[in-house]
Amino acid sequence: MSEELQEGYFGEFGGSFVPPDLQEVLNYLSAQFYKYKDDAEFIEEFHYYLREYVGRENPLTFAERLTDAWGGAKIYLKREDLNHTGAHKINNVIGQILLAKRMGAKRVIAETGAGQHGVATATACAMFNMDCFIYMGAEDMQRQSLNVFRMELLGAKVVPVTKGQARLKDAVDEALGDLVQNYKNTFYLLGSAVGPHPFPTMVKHFQSVVSEESKRQILEKEGKLPDAVLACVGGGSNAIGAFAHYLDEPSVRLIGVEPDKAPTLTEGVPGTIHGFKCLVLLDEEGNPKPTYSIAAGLDYPGIGPEHSHLKVSGRADYVTVTNEEVLAAFQELSHTEGIIPALESAHALAYAKKLAPTMGKEQIIIVNLSGRGDKDVEQVFEMLKK
Ligand SMILES: *Cc1c(COP(=O)(O)O)cnc(C)c1O
Repeated sequence: MSEELQEGYFGEFGGSFVPPDLQEVLNYLSAQFYKYKDDAEFIEEFHYYLREYVGRENPLTFAERLTDAWGGAKIYLKREDLNHTGAHKINNVIGQILLAKRMGAKRVIAETGAGQHGVATATACAMFNMDCFIYMGAEDMQRQSLNVFRMELLGAKVVPVTKGQARLKDAVDEALGDLVQNYKNTFYLLGSAVGPHPFPTMVKHFQSVVSEESKRQILEKEGKLPDAVLACVGGGSNAIGAFAHYLDEPSVRLIGVEPDKAPTLTEGVPGTIHGFKCLVLLDEEGNPKPTYSIAAGLDYPGIGPEHSHLKVSGRADYVTVTNEEVLAAFQELSHTEGIIPALESAHALAYAKKLAPTMGKEQIIIVNLSGRGDKDVEQVFEMLKK
């Protein structure tokens, strides 16, 4: 189901549509990725850092009180919120930075929206002694000022992007521009399962550890596979990681959850954005449409090519939830389980709340808790005051 018919393609989606000079850089990156991904020493080093630095494996927690409160299917939480730096993004960052090291890069650049990927990248750059430049929309810098300070504390230079909407999409454009200029010593550490080949394949590869663990864990705890796996979808990296090892298990429903203010998969059309083909939200002039989510990490008008294919092929379903539903789920997980989720992750929870009561008590839902909510507490405080 997930197999790529042609390298870098998922059905009609994916590929690489970039200028020739950038394509050359990507071809080299691709060759290096395929060379190292199955290299025993590389795999061992990746798992060493996941264990000793990220804190994996993280638990698959049975949310007993939440299950009682919502009724119906048993809800399990895959605890990416417990990772070092507080979200799933570090899994991919460790994988890519090890590749950067192998490739001899001294300088790492990245884009960031909510600041989570920037913080994860700055963290790993500190540990691996790399120069780190993070492109971030000026608007996002304001919304996530503490994360900007965190990145600086970690030794990164945060570069404000004021073009366009001054948000994530614009930061990606700037980072790609930097890569073309500086490819000789620079590695672009992309934060989601988007972009031209090989990024979506590479990010999925490193994030697949999420479902590799959850599948083993649920079989240990329940002796059977889950009935549904839910994850929020921004660019799609936590969702593709959470889905990967279930793609060939037809009994497992895969559900991606989007904000109703950025419904890329529910309303998007095939188009090209940032050098790859995917479902994309376009305005009347055919330009990527501005999106507005309360979760900065979900604010992206495009979507990973594999999700686009999973949607069109029908293997996965994609749904939307409203801000009100997200805020309610955010608070309910906090006071039933003592876990404050990221606003992004609260999207997946909000849909679990609707789905669980329609299922039997013996059925199982795994919600990928992509991150913790410390970064969002102040924003939620302001929203609830109104
Ligand atoms: C960045 C982020 C997301 C969205 O990114 P994906 O690539 O779609 O996973 C979701 N949750 C958290 C906590 C994030 O930091």
